Amino acid sequence: FNWDDWEPEIHDEEAAFRKRVEEEEKRVQTIQEVRQTLPIYSFREQLLQAIEDHRVLIIVGETGSGKTTQLPQYLVEAGYTKDGRRVGCTQPRRVAAMSVAARVADEMGVRLGHEVGYSIRFEDCSSEKTALKYMTDGMLLREFMTDPLLSTYSCMIIDEAHERTLHTDVLLGLVKRIMHAETNLRLIISSATLDAQKFARYFRVGDEEPPIFHIPGRMFEVKKYYTKNPEANYIHAAIGKVMELHINPLVRGDILVFLTGQDEIEYVQQNLEHARSILGSKISALDICPIYANLPPDLQAKIFEPTPPNARKVVLATNIAETSVTIDGIAYVIDSGYVKQNFYSPKSRMQSLEVVPCSKASAEQRAGRAGRIGPGWCFRLYTKYIFEKEMPFDAMPEIQRTNLANVILLLQTIGVRDIMQFEFMDPPHTDCIVQAMNELLELEALRQGADGKPRLTKLGQRMAEFPLDPMLSKVILESEKYHCSEEIISMISMLTVQGSIFYMPKEKKVAADMAKQNFYRPGGDHFTLLNVWNQWVDSDYDKRWCHDHFIVHRSLMRARLVREQLAALCERAEVPLERNPDPGDIVPMQKSILSGFFMNAARLSLSGQSYTTTRPGSSQTVKIHPGSALFKVNPKLVIFFELVKTSEEFMRQVMEIRPEWLLEIAPSYVPQSLLREIDSKRVPKMPKQVGMGRRHPNDLG
Ligand code: ADP
Ligand code: MG
Repeated sequence: FNWDDWEPEIHDEEAAFRKRVEEEEKRVQTIQEVRQTLPIYSFREQLLQAIEDHRVLIIVGETGSGKTTQLPQYLVEAGYTKDGRRVGCTQPRRVAAMSVAARVADEMGVRLGHEVGYSIRFEDCSSEKTALKYMTDGMLLREFMTDPLLSTYSCMIIDEAHERTLHTDVLLGLVKRIMHAETNLRLIISSATLDAQKFARYFRVGDEEPPIFHIPGRMFEVKKYYTKNPEANYIHAAIGKVMELHINPLVRGDILVFLTGQDEIEYVQQNLEHARSILGSKISALDICPIYANLPPDLQAKIFEPTPPNARKVVLATNIAETSVTIDGIAYVIDSGYVKQNFYSPKSRMQSLEVVPCSKASAEQRAGRAGRIGPGWCFRLYTKYIFEKEMPFDAMPEIQRTNLANVILLLQTIGVRDIMQFEFMDPPHTDCIVQAMNELLELEALRQGADGKPRLTKLGQRMAEFPLDPMLSKVILESEKYHCSEEIISMISMLTVQGSIFYMPKEKKVAADMAKQNFYRPGGDHFTLLNVWNQWVDSDYDKRWCHDHFIVHRSLMRARLVREQLAALCERAEVPLERNPDPGDIVPMQKSILSGFFMNAARLSLSGQSYTTTRPGSSQTVKIHPGSALFKVNPKLVIFFELVKTSEEFMRQVMEIRPEWLLEIAPSYVPQSLLREIDSKRVPKMPKQVGMGRRHPNDLG
């Protein structure tokens, strides 16, 4: 054997390392160069000076100017975190909080969750070390419960204030109170629209108003086109317009489509993929990127990736892309003109999600997304008449169209007893406040104090520990009584997952329907969901199992994350985690759910088709959603998780209950009419429930 005949592979680790360092240096250098090209950069020193000089500062700047990603970094660089305090920045949307934090961690060359972190409901990606924290406005609200002066922060940025979400509005009221106190917290209100005067007036102290700092953006002209006639269906119109633009060889640049929600986005995505597969190589590549609130992080990152040459990116977005996230490279905007909004009717005491025309301000923001890299085009899928005559000037702040129970409970725990005295920027209607108070009284989270003012109960205090609707937190706490907290938190995790659980591809509709019906269990949709969850756990969280059973794996992964958090919260609230001792007996679960949802009871009307809700003085006609296991079963009395309004009001996630349980669980609430009926009919003894393992008698029908 002669060594000289052989040549060893030289493994020059040092050279490889040096090369890696060089590459990284180059990357960081370009990142730093990009940072310096943003419009906000030339105002860096002025901004820092203004923040130094004023306790409250209002910043207005075009979307993409660098407010969210740069300003917090400037503060860190200027030493605002030297004393161990943090810089915080709130976002109305969870996706924005996550993606912005990831971006900033990358720009600063640190690991996400360490120096730069984020905190959103059910997910805390921050640590002791975190100096710069992005969070949803709702999470900051919760921090007030333990730290009412925000003493761990040196500077707080309330970003996207123009969105006027419920939580942002409450935050504004709370930070305004802090500003009256002795603190050296710096407060920055940042907004994309020009209605900054209103914020300035709101934060006026004496006759001193906080200054408004304008950051001029880079904007090119955007040509706007309306349809000549109203579109019958904006979803199909959007699909058509995307393809029309895409196959036109003269059209350069990416396309951004504004739709209203995940279901619409998925529908459009499927149709575009279909069109793409039919046309095949006859057209250039089309990169389809969805973005909506519940999009998993790995897919979120995709929308920021540069479009490969010879390809076109089409981003399908909700109004999240209006101002919260900036996508580079967009030259065309297609605007449906609609938005999904929640509405609350204090009269019927019902909350519902509805697709409604967006505001003119939104439409202008949407159009503006096309003009960041050069002149752009915006195609509005509505007529000029509709724009001028039917679209509201500005959106109504969420606080005026939502159920306030949650926020009132939270404010009570922070010590804001008298909501009527709280200084809201736009106060909610008195009716809404009164109704929310009543709801909390019904749930026994509040009780009437001797002075006539409501007081927080022990139960209410525990309920506030959960970042959930009061009705849901009550269910969890009450499940202790029925020894089934394990099942209940599984159900709630599945109920609160916002994407769909069941995968329903058009081309395999029959098989998918069958698969879904196989999960049906007696009692209602809650048990169907529990069944899906349990089987998935038994499969060891298998992705394959989901695929085989037409279940959306991603939704279950999210439910799993939520469930872990709920289990931890139960531990903190000292709710023992127990499994229902008799798996064949579903009554404990039904009673637990009922203890939070008795106000959502609805009874079958005489026609046997529709239901009447039972809230006193506000009964309403509703139907069981066709996607429910109880559709066509039509039990006499049900409770529902939510109402959705399409052509009619539908109850979604429906569970069967017995009238006598209402008497047992919410005696003071039960409506008189129902009481009379129960008395007159002498309800027969309840039959034993069919076991969980058995098929539902209606499975086959
Ligand atoms: P503003 O808050 O003023 O609307 P941002 O700070 O969000 O502006 O955005 C500044 C720049 O950073 C934009 O050019 C945007 O494209 C870029 N950017 C923001 N988030 C990301 C991300 N996650 N990945 C890549 N680029 C991003
Ligand atoms: Mg921003």
